[in-house]
Amino acid sequence: MPGYFIWTIGCQMNKAESQQIAGYLDSAGYQAVDSFSNADVVVLNTCVVRQSAENKVLGTLGLLKGVKNKHPDLQILVTGCLVNSDIQELKRRFPQVDLLFKPGDYPELIAWSERRGTPAEQRLLRYPPNNVNGARSPSALIPIIQGCDNFCSYCIVPYRRGREVSRPRRDIVSEVEELVRRGMKEITLVGQNVDSYGHDLPGHLDLADLLNELSSIDDLARIRFLTNHPKDISLKLIDSVASPNKICEHLELPVQAGDDDILRAMRRGYNLEQYRELVHTIRRNIPQVSLSTDIIVGFPGETEEQFAHSLALVKDIKFDVVHVAAYSPRPGTIAWREYQDNIPAEVKKERLHVIEDLQAAIATEINSQLQGKEIEVLVEGSKGGKWFGRTRSNKLVFFEDAGDWLGQLARVKIERTSPWSLGGEVKNN
Ligand code: SAM
Ligand code: SF4
Repeated sequence: MPGYFIWTIGCQMNKAESQQIAGYLDSAGYQAVDSFSNADVVVLNTCVVRQSAENKVLGTLGLLKGVKNKHPDLQILVTGCLVNSDIQELKRRFPQVDLLFKPGDYPELIAWSERRGTPAEQRLLRYPPNNVNGARSPSALIPIIQGCDNFCSYCIVPYRRGREVSRPRRDIVSEVEELVRRGMKEITLVGQNVDSYGHDLPGHLDLADLLNELSSIDDLARIRFLTNHPKDISLKLIDSVASPNKICEHLELPVQAGDDDILRAMRRGYNLEQYRELVHTIRRNIPQVSLSTDIIVGFPGETEEQFAHSLALVKDIKFDVVHVAAYSPRPGTIAWREYQDNIPAEVKKERLHVIEDLQAAIATEINSQLQGKEIEVLVEGSKGGKWFGRTRSNKLVFFEDAGDWLGQLARVKIERTSPWSLGGEVKNN
C-alpha cells in the first residue's frame, strides 16, 4: 500500500481539514506512515497568518524539493492558506508540487486520486476512524463553517479562505452520529467565527440550536467549539453553555488588543467596555467557565501606553490562557495597505515576553486552586509513559496508571499544578 504523511501547521481548522484529507486518502487505499521519508505522498497543510509560519512552509517546500530530486515518484500536495487564487503563479514558484488545492476543495483532491488510478470515495464520511497520520484519538474536530466575512485589518484569512459558508446541519449531525458509533467521545466544532454559523442556511438556525441537537446524541460525552467572536457571541449561546449538559465550559474569545484606538484600527467591531461587559455576563452565567484569548502586540503605531492597556486587561480579566503574537504585516490586508509596520522587532519581542510572563504568573495562580480537587479527564493518549487528557475546562492533565485509559473518562485527583498543565492520581475504582 502506498504511504502518506500529512504535515500540518496553523489553526484548528487546518488540523480539522488534515483529518478530512486523511479520510479521503484512507478511502483511496493509501496508508498513514510516520514520517516524510517513508511516504509516497506528502500533503502540506499550510499557514501564512504570520511571516514566521510562512517561512516554515517555504523551508519545508525547499526540503521536499531536494527529496523529490532524489525520488521523482514522490507526490507533493499542498493546501491551506498558502494557496491563493493564482494557482499558475504558485505552480511556477513551486515546480516540485504536484497538486495545489484551496482549503476544503476536496473535488480537486479526489480528481488527483482518480488520475493516479486510486479513486477515493466521493461522498465519504469525511473523517477517518483514526486520526491524522494514524494516531488514535477519542476526540474529533468538525468544521462547521468555512471562510470569514470579518476582514480584521491585519488578517489574511478572508483573502485565502473566502466568504463564510455554513455546512448543512444534517451533514454535521450525521457525521457526528457516525463518529460516535465508531467510538468517538468528544467533538470540537470549528470555524474562524462559529457565531456566524447558520446565517446563510435556510431557517435561521444558529450555533446554539446545533449544539442542542448534537447534545441529544447518546454516548457522545463532550462538545466543544471555537472560535467565538466578541462582537457576535449571543446570550442564547451563553445560556446553552451554562445549562448542565455535554457542552464544555470553555470559551475562546480573542480580544486582540486592550486599547480602543488599536481595536478600531484592527476593525474588530467592539470596544473595551463591551468586551469587559461580555466577560462579566459570561462569568455571571457560567461561574466555572475557563476563558482563552489571543492578543497581538506591536500593531502599527502601538504606543507604550496602548501596550500598557493590553497588559492591564490581561491583569484584570485573568484569562486561563493567552496566545500572544507579534504583529506581522500580511501583503494585501487593510493594515498592510494603510499602516507602516513601524514597531521595531525587538520592541514587539519585548512586549510579547512581558505579556507571556504576566500570563504565566496568572495561570500559576488559577491552576494552583485546583490542587487537591478531583476532576473528570477525557483521556486522549499517552506520552512518555503517562496518560494525558483534558478537563471540561480544557486543562491538560497527566497521570500514570497501568490500565488502558484511552478514550475513558478518568477521575483524577490533582497533586501537581503548573501554568501549562496539571498532574495527579487516577481515582476511578
Ligand atoms: N478568527 C479568530 C479571531 O477572530 O480572532 C482567529 C483566527 S486567526 C487565523 C488566529 C490568530 O492569529 C488571531 O487571533 C491573531 O491573534 C493572530 N493573527 C492573525 N493575523 C495576524 C497578523 N497579521 N500578525 C500577528 N498575528 C496575527
Ligand atoms: Fe481573521 Fe478576524 Fe476573521 Fe478571525 S475574525 S479569521 S482574525 S478576519
